[in-house]
Amino acid sequence: MRQPRDIQRRHPGRKLATRVLHSASSVDAHTGASSIPLYQASTFHHASLEHPPEYDYSRSGNPTRQALEDTIAELEGGARGFAFSSGMAAISTAFMLLSHGDHVLCSEDVYGGTYRLLTTILGRMGIETTFVDMTDLDQLEAARRPNTRAVFLETPSNPTLKITDIAAVAEWARKHGLLTMLDNTFMTPCLQRPIELGIDIVLHSATKFLCGHSDVLAGLAVVANEKLGHQLKHLQNALGSVLGVQDAWLLMRGMKTLTARMECAERNARRLADWLSRHPAVSRVYYPGLPGHPGRDIHERQAHGYGAIVSFDVGTGARAKQVLERVTLPLVAVSLGAVESILSYPAMMSHAAMPREVRLQRGIGDGLLRYSVGLEAIEDILEDLDQALDEEVRAACRD
Ligand SMILES: *Cc1c(COP(=O)(O)O)cnc(C)c1O
Repeated sequence: MRQPRDIQRRHPGRKLATRVLHSASSVDAHTGASSIPLYQASTFHHASLEHPPEYDYSRSGNPTRQALEDTIAELEGGARGFAFSSGMAAISTAFMLLSHGDHVLCSEDVYGGTYRLLTTILGRMGIETTFVDMTDLDQLEAARRPNTRAVFLETPSNPTLKITDIAAVAEWARKHGLLTMLDNTFMTPCLQRPIELGIDIVLHSATKFLCGHSDVLAGLAVVANEKLGHQLKHLQNALGSVLGVQDAWLLMRGMKTLTARMECAERNARRLADWLSRHPAVSRVYYPGLPGHPGRDIHERQAHGYGAIVSFDVGTGARAKQVLERVTLPLVAVSLGAVESILSYPAMMSHAAMPREVRLQRGIGDGLLRYSVGLEAIEDILEDLDQALDEEVRAACRD
């Protein structure tokens, strides 16, 4: 069997752009086929009861899913990877490592679905969470309790792209014996590899950049060591929210162009952020690559790029709605990280469930829009947004 780690051992210096193409998902070990076959089977024949087959039932393991799991483990530099039916399935399975009576520290502007899981479901099961501003280690220390077991981070955060110092939080957590989990959806292993910075478990909504085509729902988890690998494998099999083989195959196909897509999208995002920061109808732009973005130095230390998400404020809810109605190029939708641009409105979409005061406190105003920059020609992206914002300025002048 051609294993991903064999490839890495033989060629340790290879760059990620090469590794996304030459991984566990590049060649079928049995036939040499240029893509991993779809093992569309729920169960596997036992030719001998004494020597059970390597795979016996697809919830417990399937060769197509395994190729994807090996690929993400290799790209993140972890011990083992796991594929789930959605990002939330990956995140909720990882939280099942905790028990009744445990306490979690979580980034305050965490993804809405994670917020819902922690506050409505885990709370009911006796697992309490304190949301903290993780850009400030003192707040983390002040919130720690004797029963604190885990820290959950997201950086850059959504949608205001706040930066947390990953290595500093990981080191602090290790000192106190806490498990660290990080949602790396916005950056992907192409731009940020948290395990190399001391994080125990990396989680992904692979629905976004990893898949990249707005056509698959999937989640991935990567653990730093075999002990956690054993525990998460047990949970994945016991809870059963595994990824189907068709989606695993599509995801592997999408991941082959990850580096190329991220490079192009980021180039566009930098241009967009710079252009927006000079536009008269925009009061504020959030992008880690802009000079003056809080935590930019930390981000540059821990990541290899700024990513493709740009948030900006047009002042009021009425103006934001006008922009959403007038743009002709991006999908106006929930989600992000696709080949096509996606414009979303946090106040009425991802953060609609958050009470308005809490939302405003966290900097997610009624005029905030989030642009997930795709691979279109940047000139067309700017021209389209310019006509939407232009109307904006005229409307504002009429007010
Ligand atoms: C979308 C998203 C999730 C949830 O993933 P699903 O695949 O939709 O279940 C989790 N975290 C972040 C940062 C996301 O953007």
